[in-house]
Amino acid sequence: MMKTIAVLTSGGDSPGMNAAIRAVVRSGIHQGYRVYGVEQGYEGVLADEFKLMNSNSVAGIIQLGGTVLKTARSETFKTDAGFAAAVKILKARSIDCLVVIGGDGSMRGAQRLAEAGIATMVIPGTIDNDMPGTEYTLGFDTALNNVLDAVNKIRDTAASHQRVAVVEVMGRHAGHIALTAGVACGAEAILIPEVKTDLAELCDSLRKRFKRGKVYAIVIVAEGAGRAYDVAATIGNITGINTPVTVLGYIQRGGNPSVYDNVMASRMGAMAVECLTRGEVNRLIAFQAGKVVSVPYAEATVKRGLDPELCKLAGILAT
Ligand code: ADP
Repeated sequence: MMKTIAVLTSGGDSPGMNAAIRAVVRSGIHQGYRVYGVEQGYEGVLADEFKLMNSNSVAGIIQLGGTVLKTARSETFKTDAGFAAAVKILKARSIDCLVVIGGDGSMRGAQRLAEAGIATMVIPGTIDNDMPGTEYTLGFDTALNNVLDAVNKIRDTAASHQRVAVVEVMGRHAGHIALTAGVACGAEAILIPEVKTDLAELCDSLRKRFKRGKVYAIVIVAEGAGRAYDVAATIGNITGINTPVTVLGYIQRGGNPSVYDNVMASRMGAMAVECLTRGEVNRLIAFQAGKVVSVPYAEATVKRGLDPELCKLAGILAT
């Protein structure tokens, strides 16, 4: 009998999700699977809305940001009753595997389904790049490019007016975006949740920098390291330098995915299907040591910390 898979996107959207959906659908069809698309994450499962996909259903989407399947955060799915209802629907529909594209929370949901006897696969999709078991999550590269583009524009005004531009980027729990984008844009300071920054010391170095003749600076603040407005007020009060603030917000998450994200998403989507054909399910598709691999959920437990080499480099290059 023809095997059936379903694909959904869940949690925060990220650029590259569409390329991953497309790869799952087309590789699935290529391997002889019947493929359903489910809208709005686990909410769509609970609504029992499964849309049969064909090759055309995913035509013209690879260049789009966000997710054409839409996404949601489902509180109902987290409850025992909601979860049981989802299991019942997936069983009634004879779904052989549910492919979930999403972040940490979405993976916990998929893992719970696996424990309840519903085979699942997870493709990591979140701009934060902070999922356990993988060195890369879809959307990170595009988000970095969005930050770089914005900072390049902000720098023009900072330099012209001799200001310290404080730029808040996403990253409540991890400083991957701030650190990597900070190095890429040549920031004078990068504030991340993992490391406590001494603002008095930072002000001292900014003052010295201004005395030396560099009359502007870029300070990147990950949201988990403190609010940019507070950081800017402190720097302004101590140094007397004008400190305009830009909170980049959702600008970071939107827009056309980068080459890297679309290629990675295509590879990960195809790998999810390849694993299925081998009967390897209940796994996270991960990027490890330069390769797209699959990792059993039980082994995807350790979150990657910040790259110490990059942290060191950021410090050296900012002097
Ligand atoms: P992300 O996947 O981006 O981390 P969330 O943490 O909001 O986003 O999770 C997305 C959805 O995954 C939640 O709305 C919920 O439906 C489901 N989910 C999250 N955590 C759990 C859990 N512990 N058990 C079951 N489902 C979960």
